[in-house]
Amino acid sequence: MRGKGLTVVIASCIAFAMVASEAFGQARALYQQTQYKGQEIGRLTGEVYYARMDDYVSAFIVTSEGIALVEPIGTEMATWLKAEIAKRFNVPVKYVIYSHSHWDHASGGAVYADTAKFIGQTNLLKNIAMPPASTPLPENVRAMDSNGNGRIEQSEAQGNIKAQFDLYDANHDGVLTGAEIVRGPIANVRAPDITYTDRMDLHIGGKRVEIISRPIAHADDNSLVRFVDGNNVLFASDWITVHRIPFGQITDAETPMVKAVEAMDFEYFLCSHGALGKKADVTANLKYREDLRAAVAQAVAAGQTLEEAQKSVTMDAYKDWEFYDQQRPQNVAGMYRALKK
Ligand SMILES: [Zn+2]
Repeated sequence: MRGKGLTVVIASCIAFAMVASEAFGQARALYQQTQYKGQEIGRLTGEVYYARMDDYVSAFIVTSEGIALVEPIGTEMATWLKAEIAKRFNVPVKYVIYSHSHWDHASGGAVYADTAKFIGQTNLLKNIAMPPASTPLPENVRAMDSNGNGRIEQSEAQGNIKAQFDLYDANHDGVLTGAEIVRGPIANVRAPDITYTDRMDLHIGGKRVEIISRPIAHADDNSLVRFVDGNNVLFASDWITVHRIPFGQITDAETPMVKAVEAMDFEYFLCSHGALGKKADVTANLKYREDLRAAVAQAVAAGQTLEEAQKSVTMDAYKDWEFYDQQRPQNVAGMYRALKK
């Protein structure tokens, strides 16, 4: 997820943590925090492993020729994982595949740059490029600009702009322009060496890894990664959540895309966050979206206001899913607005 998921409360505690972990440039506490804690590696199936840092999950395949890894996650995770991989597998990371360009998934790749090539969907280049110098401050940042000069000085920065100031400040001049803020806190995102448009097959150590472009509302540079040749694992970042209510104001526009993913051939499913999944979790995510649409459509047909719909559409069957309290009302709002159009 992009920075907007972070609260000011979290970000303001982080200023201290950032000093402590300056070697990494980005504090682990800035990442989304849930009940999932710790760093670990586990075997999923065949030659495919998952690696976790707290709520964040990456995946990699181990072959005689080396490793192909999805998502560096960040400098701290990459530093830890590189050392663990060297101890356990004794082969280098040959490829790092970006699922999308957001800072909390794509940072830290430079750690692997001595042995790895980096792969991303072609839109990723545009998303990490600096926007035009004339780009104004985004509306939600303008209130910080107390001296009204159209830029954010260190003394003006608040919340996650303050906590991640150095990661936004691409030219290190101590001042953030609208362009730097719109580009995002991506100073630690290394550009890809290899880009592709629709799909690419990566061959490593006699195994094939499919990388498939799937632009979504969350990220137009989004890639699915499917580990085949006896592994049967699908990785899809952020948007198809496992036993967790989807993030934000979703509409029914993405439902057919979730359905298309469900129709693919795989057994194990990894979202970039939270619990490890199986195909049944993708089916459940799809059913949630269909049930949500049906319930909101009923509320709209009954003439309910958005506020009434947020109260009446309780989605009881999903009460035990993570983020039920926070995200269900957001989901209802997104679907309500889409169906009212
Ligand atoms: Zn994201």
